[in-house]
Amino acid sequence: MSVPTLSSSSVKEAAAAVGFDACGIAAAAPLTEEEWGYDEWLRNGYQADMAFMEQHRDMRRDPSLLVPGAQSVIVVLLGYKPSQHMQGEARIAQYAYGEDYHERIKRMLYQLIAAIRQRYPDFEAKPCVDTVPISDKQWARRAGLGWIGRNTLLVNPSLGSYCNIGELVTPSPADLYDTPLENGCGDCRACADACPNKALTHSSIQAFKHSQIPLLDANRCASYHTIENRAETLPPDIHLSGYAFGCDICQLVCPYNQTAAVRYTLTDERKSQLEALADADPAAFRRATKHTALSRIRHTQWLRNRNQRET
Ligand code: SF4
Ligand code: SF4
Repeated sequence: MSVPTLSSSSVKEAAAAVGFDACGIAAAAPLTEEEWGYDEWLRNGYQADMAFMEQHRDMRRDPSLLVPGAQSVIVVLLGYKPSQHMQGEARIAQYAYGEDYHERIKRMLYQLIAAIRQRYPDFEAKPCVDTVPISDKQWARRAGLGWIGRNTLLVNPSLGSYCNIGELVTPSPADLYDTPLENGCGDCRACADACPNKALTHSSIQAFKHSQIPLLDANRCASYHTIENRAETLPPDIHLSGYAFGCDICQLVCPYNQTAAVRYTLTDERKSQLEALADADPAAFRRATKHTALSRIRHTQWLRNRNQRET
């Protein structure tokens, strides 16, 4: 079986046909010091108690440890800006309004593999979406899909930071690789100024002066606390700003997100369902959150967050 060399344009056409909003291809050479930043993030303890983030460091940086002989990382984006916002007692981050992006992107990545195999029957690739140790934002940046903004997220010129990322790591080389875009944040610091917990100010802004890699201090971030923190109570000085799952404050103010294309239709029926979750009992919560990112938290966490949300 031979390893085919991929036509970059045909891979991108296939990605668009599958329904991805953007696709870029990066050479799979390990991330450089300048692109990395992960060790500094860990050294500062910004991962809080997410011990899993300390594992597979080498693999996150070098995809050939994930897929032997990896030559290319095909990166795809799926936008999620909703057509309207939910209201109500317990706010939910927008990325979690609809189907769990892990499930949706994984399904689409398999469709993309099948589509590429129509032209290259010997094509092999490993699909990745968050559950595999790979530094997705850094690979998206290298694949020319955007830059790492002061909000520490990938910012795509059309989708803003309202996009989820998936990858195919493959031993196939491509005939053309993409190159990173210039950082478009300029003098803007709206996200850092808007964060009620200064999770970006101390860490991100300093790092931003030196590299392309702003750092988020998870210890100060409401998104970390509402989702990953399993403690019975949350630190009293963490402001949740009405959120019971995640936090969008630093993204809502981003000028790129304000002009981003709507990519998800939040129906009135789903909106009502999300708004009713504030008072849902455990069974109703499980039913309404199945196959969504909300299923990552337990009902007890939901209640804890809801009760602390006004702070
Ligand atoms: S998600 Fe919320 S708490 Fe975390 S950095 Fe953004 S604004 Fe701050
Ligand atoms: S709000 Fe401004 S600084 Fe923050 S990510 Fe968006 S453009 Fe960059």
